[in-house]
Amino acid sequence: MYVCGPTVYDYPHIGNARSVVVYDLLFRLLQRVYGVESINYVRNITDVDDKINIAAKARQITINKLTQEIIEIFTQDMYSLGCLAPTVEPRATEHIEEMIFIIKKLIDKNHAYIANNHVYFSIKSDPSYGKLAGREIEEMIPGSRINIEKNKLHPGDFVLWKPQDAEDDVSSVFDSPWGKGRPGWHIECSAMSYKYLGSDFDIHGGGADLMFPHHTNEMAQSCCAFEDSKYANYWVHNGFLTVNGEKMSKSLGNFTTVRQLLDNNIRGEAIRLVLLLTHYRKPLDFNDKALSDAKKTLDGFYRIVLENPAIVPQQGQADDLNTPAAITTLHEISKAYNKENDVFKKTNYAQKLKASCNLLGLLSNTPQQWFSNEDLDINISNLINERNIAKNNKNWAVADQIRNQLKNYNIILEDKIDGTTTWRKL
Ligand SMILES: [Zn+2]
Repeated sequence: MYVCGPTVYDYPHIGNARSVVVYDLLFRLLQRVYGVESINYVRNITDVDDKINIAAKARQITINKLTQEIIEIFTQDMYSLGCLAPTVEPRATEHIEEMIFIIKKLIDKNHAYIANNHVYFSIKSDPSYGKLAGREIEEMIPGSRINIEKNKLHPGDFVLWKPQDAEDDVSSVFDSPWGKGRPGWHIECSAMSYKYLGSDFDIHGGGADLMFPHHTNEMAQSCCAFEDSKYANYWVHNGFLTVNGEKMSKSLGNFTTVRQLLDNNIRGEAIRLVLLLTHYRKPLDFNDKALSDAKKTLDGFYRIVLENPAIVPQQGQADDLNTPAAITTLHEISKAYNKENDVFKKTNYAQKLKASCNLLGLLSNTPQQWFSNEDLDINISNLINERNIAKNNKNWAVADQIRNQLKNYNIILEDKIDGTTTWRKL
């Protein structure tokens, strides 16, 4: 599986995070179905791009310093959201040779041409161009990234290699048969997917906004460069994300980074749950209400784990990418647990809940890590109350189970002759 990774010029925002969480879930599910060893998950890092040059200049730092800093932040933030590391995380700047290899092939096969020190891909040379996004060549309008129109045979032709600007930072300048410069964005993914997965592979993922032009152009490059290549067998595109009902933008002041949320003491797992509440293809609205609901939901789930410290999760119950349905099932299991009086059935529900949550990348903390000390004390007093109710109902099995659970947290209960119970920490 190949997934388009971050362009490392700024803190990852919540829309970037949605994409990473969606493909993390798919990765976990594929590992579950086909075995961990069978899945090769490649997610690239775009560390050479116009946006990076502009951001580094604005901050008056070198490109290397900027990209190192953002890669570190991205890695930490995605870890906070419970995302596993991909199998390979190749960087564009380390694969210039592979890009040049493909560009040469495209020129040799008359799919690319040199004009004014640029190398362009000729979209008219590819009879299948635009198929992925269902577009006709005639309706292609040039994007804003393309600024030197006069050199192109067709306004939709896109750049494979561009010459260096006089003031470019040396870390974004590379040698090539067409002079010093840097690659276009699309060729990066064709080169890195080819290197790690070959000319044909199973799944290609990314945000729906990448379908055109990015994925369309990746496909054109690879299919034209490699004989009989279909590029990816399956395309997976995740839907858009809005914040409080509006498109996220810096000018609207609703540009939400993962780091801002984490700094405001919002738990990564709660963010992850919100991102999974909507089916991955549908538009998702990220808002405060959803976040606080997710926190409450997870509190409830962690309470169950707290009450069942000894459970060993078996196989998970969720088995497709219909995450809203999976999460509904989690709520049902949690409700059933809370209603159940039979000790064995309760343990069984707790086990199911933990296993299913783990498959979704949730409940990866211990309850002690999740709850603050104060919350933990409240939960312990609740457990003691529940035990008193069980005792009053002469439900000795449940009462004994709670006593044993509390022992796991070093809480010792002492029942007095007058019927009251006191407790102390060991
Ligand atoms: Zn890509």
